[in-house]
Amino acid sequence: MSDNCIFCKIARGEIPSRKVYEDDDVFAFHDINPVAPVHFMIVPKHHLVSLMEADDSHAALLGKMLLLAPKLAREQGLENGFRTVINSGKGGGQEVFHLHIHVIGGGNIPPMVKRS
Ligand code: AMP
Ligand code: ZN
Repeated sequence: MSDNCIFCKIARGEIPSRKVYEDDDVFAFHDINPVAPVHFMIVPKHHLVSLMEADDSHAALLGKMLLLAPKLAREQGLENGFRTVINSGKGGGQEVFHLHIHVIGGGNIPPMVKRS
């Protein structure tokens, strides 16, 4: 838990969010600034900065979060598939330093990397 972390506060219900899913370990909620018709994030309730700070003790939690992605995506209507994004560290473009899996889909999802 981190007092100043916005996603810890969301997971604790101290900051409102549009909840997608919750259990003892994990919270999922819609992104406030979606890049596609469906865009939500899966976060651990326990404060973990990024994948760069993860170790073997997080294996079960990370597996649970990954397996929730297709389940919750289907529940959100993404029957044809979805994109997952995990930004890790400043070098990975991470802006909120509490690990989260973006689940994105619906509409036209462009190729991830543009090649010229
Ligand atoms: P990242 O760049 O991977 O760290 O993504 C952070 C994401 O958090 C961005 O897509 C933001 O739109 C989203 N975000 C920031 N604050 C909130 C909030 N209060 N509720 C929902 N999503 C948020
Ligand atoms: Zn946090």
